[in-house]
Amino acid sequence: MDKYDAVVIGAGNGGMVAAIRLLQGGAKVLLVEKHNIPGGFATSFRRGRFEFEASLHELNDFGPKDNGGDVRGLFDALGVTDKIDWVPIPDAYRVICKNEKLDALMPFGIQAYIDKMEKYVPGSRDSVSKFFTLADEIRKAQAYTNSKNGVVESSYMVKNHGNYVRTGSYSVSEVLDSLKMPQKAKDILSAYWCYLGAHCSDLSFTHYASMVIRYISRGAMMPKGRSHEISLALCERIRELGGDIWFNTEAEKIVTGADGGVEGVILKGGRQIKTRHIIANCSPHLVYGKMMDKVPESVIRATNARKFSGRGFCMFLGLNKTADELGIANHNYFLYDTSDSVKQYEIMKKISTNSAQATVCLNRAYPECSPAGTSMMYFTTLYMSDDWGNVKPQDYAKTKEKVANMMIDRFEDYTGSKIRDSIEEIAVATPMTYARYCGHPEGAIYGYESQYWDGLNPRLQMMGQDHVTRGLRFAGGYSMRLSGYSSAYFSGDITGRQTVGDIKKEGN
Ligand SMILES: Cc1cc2nc3c(=O)[nH]c(=O)nc-3n(C[C@H](O)[C@H](O)[C@H](O)COP(=O)(O)OP(=O)(O)OC[C@H]3O[C@@H](n4cnc5c(N)ncnc54)[C@H](O)[C@@H]3O)c2cc1C
Repeated sequence: MDKYDAVVIGAGNGGMVAAIRLLQGGAKVLLVEKHNIPGGFATSFRRGRFEFEASLHELNDFGPKDNGGDVRGLFDALGVTDKIDWVPIPDAYRVICKNEKLDALMPFGIQAYIDKMEKYVPGSRDSVSKFFTLADEIRKAQAYTNSKNGVVESSYMVKNHGNYVRTGSYSVSEVLDSLKMPQKAKDILSAYWCYLGAHCSDLSFTHYASMVIRYISRGAMMPKGRSHEISLALCERIRELGGDIWFNTEAEKIVTGADGGVEGVILKGGRQIKTRHIIANCSPHLVYGKMMDKVPESVIRATNARKFSGRGFCMFLGLNKTADELGIANHNYFLYDTSDSVKQYEIMKKISTNSAQATVCLNRAYPECSPAGTSMMYFTTLYMSDDWGNVKPQDYAKTKEKVANMMIDRFEDYTGSKIRDSIEEIAVATPMTYARYCGHPEGAIYGYESQYWDGLNPRLQMMGQDHVTRGLRFAGGYSMRLSGYSSAYFSGDITGRQTVGDIKKEGN
């Protein structure tokens, strides 16, 4: 029987980083991936003349060399930064809410952002500046917590990172209200909420603030070869470090011993691997629901208490005209019915009402990403309920078409750009696509939703309690850093290093 110090199940962002961390810690590692390529959502695909990015709009927290972010620091430590060809994203975002006559294009750079906000919302400078000061304190506190693998003294945190502790249990709405920020400034500042998939009354302020400050202060990047280029670089590094990667290999069962702890993995087809350490890059619902026979009652209850995040839908368009010809002025747009995120979240529960979208035209960051004379776009939305589960098989194709049409109509109506007649290629991914591709229940693309009791801070603080089964840890969008590219990478970093510690302790 093959024997490894650790097996990582899934070559998504979290799984690949965890594998590198394990290898750097001296472990013998096997990474199994059910698909024939790495990345999970971090991939690309071709239709006709176009290579579409499957998920990444822009990589947060990477930053340029002279203002490197935490992700750049992590990639440097992993040894992959220079394997990737990066391009910067020009502007932070444009948010449009036609009903409210809101149309704001926000820049990168904290001072530039505050100045632009003051232009759109005179009198906002003071509260928006306070927001960034607070967000910076939170970022530093998180960096400290991360450096200590989440094991921090509460008295130290209260003394040295007081505002982090103080804001820790409040939502985005609560803290922005307390800063006395004008409503329109709140609407513009909270436009990113859909990237975290929970509305501002549920979303933890610390989570949101740390994401926004990383975006705004360091800008964002995109690999020229799409996120697939990052995935290939991470795999190359795993192999350089002596790790094994088996593609087309699905883990079916986790074998446990008398103490309930990990003893091995059974792969599809019956091959068994002996290991005492597994990092699962798939959802706990899948692991506890299908891969393990004996699961403690408390774990089942805790897992079921969590809520799935938005189920993904993405339309990809290859257009036979340039962005300039089509009047697509910006890299990324948020198009909402209302800037009240609680109301918008409700609208996004139903297929019949949802055409809110985060829309990207990569040519605005990287003009050569598509053949000369063309451009390409992605339109992403989330469904905040399992409404796609109600679609009958015979209605599936026409439902996809209906939503795709709604999204095109919304984009044309909100921006004045006319794209419909220039479509050369179209592909649509629904929650069914995502459920099938990565194995995530209901096609959720952001793991478990951030909740008041289950946001970033509680998860980081509960890491110890969440580690119930000896030898089993999780990395990726369902774990302690929640979802998104940088979060998934960081969860792999934390879990990989924790597992190295587990292995060393066992050795002792
Ligand atoms: C349309 C779309 C747009 C997005 N936009 C952004 C964005 O702009 N910015 C951002 O930060 N995030 C974005 N995200 C979210 C981001 O892609 C995810 O949060 C992140 O990629 C999740 O990484 P992960 O580590 O959880 O792995 P996943 O991508 O979930 O991959 C898990 C891997 O495990 C494999 N696997 C599962 N079960 C098994 C098994 N039993 N055996 C073997 N292998 C298995 C799967 O095949 C898969 O490769 C977007 C996602 C989508 C779908």
